[in-house]
Amino acid sequence: MIINKTNKIIILGPCALEDYDQIESIATMATKIGVIYLRAQLFKPRTSPNSFQGLGIEGVQILNKLRAKFPKLKFVCEVCSESQFEIAKEIVDIVQIGARNMQNFELLKYISANFDPNKHEAILLKRGFANTYKEWIEASNYLMQDKVAKDQILLCERGSRSFTSETGVNLDFVNALKAKHAGFKVIIDPSHGSKHCDYVLPLTKASLAMDFAGVIVEVHPSPSESVSDKEQAISIEDCTQFFNELNQI
Ligand code: PEP
Ligand code: MN
Repeated sequence: MIINKTNKIIILGPCALEDYDQIESIATMATKIGVIYLRAQLFKPRTSPNSFQGLGIEGVQILNKLRAKFPKLKFVCEVCSESQFEIAKEIVDIVQIGARNMQNFELLKYISANFDPNKHEAILLKRGFANTYKEWIEASNYLMQDKVAKDQILLCERGSRSFTSETGVNLDFVNALKAKHAGFKVIIDPSHGSKHCDYVLPLTKASLAMDFAGVIVEVHPSPSESVSDKEQAISIEDCTQFFNELNQI
């Protein structure tokens, strides 16, 4: 697995791919700060059927254009179904299984059977926001049943539903550490794990200081205009400053 200057797997990008200009501005920033993984989300599992569901197959053209301009960047994209996996598998480097599908066992089996290490670098498996550590590990066992090796799995901690926290979510670093101690590569999602931009970069710093394998962070060229999760999006300027400072340490 290729890592950036900080020796970590840093994945940056918008909650959802919206258009070429949006993703190009983030790709340009990523390249400048030495980050190679980009959130390139074509499919969005949304609570409301009336919310933007992602560009879907139309977004593939955008990613092809982006790849031509930035051949070194790697794309991370969530899939929620077998048919979405079939679309994503040609263009995506890391296939993400989101919190809502952590226990979609048929999807896990399908991905395990159809994983191609020549095309895909890893499967990113989020912990469901109401799932236990054991359920998370069992979900990873589904992936490992067939073609996915343990070191090709990135377990991602994205927080649990919380009735005490102001933002409704709590990052569970203990579960994440337990998975790390069990020999998994573990990355942290401080964006969905805090739901507010004020907390994203401090939690990113904490995650890297705790020596997790990396982070996945939502960035948008104009956070207030993001079509989804705008409260937690950080700006390109703040992101650039943060990672430049980090690279100097
Ligand atoms: C995402 O990362 O785009 C996402 C939908 O996150 P989660 O599955 O953690 O809610
Ligand atoms: Mn999001």
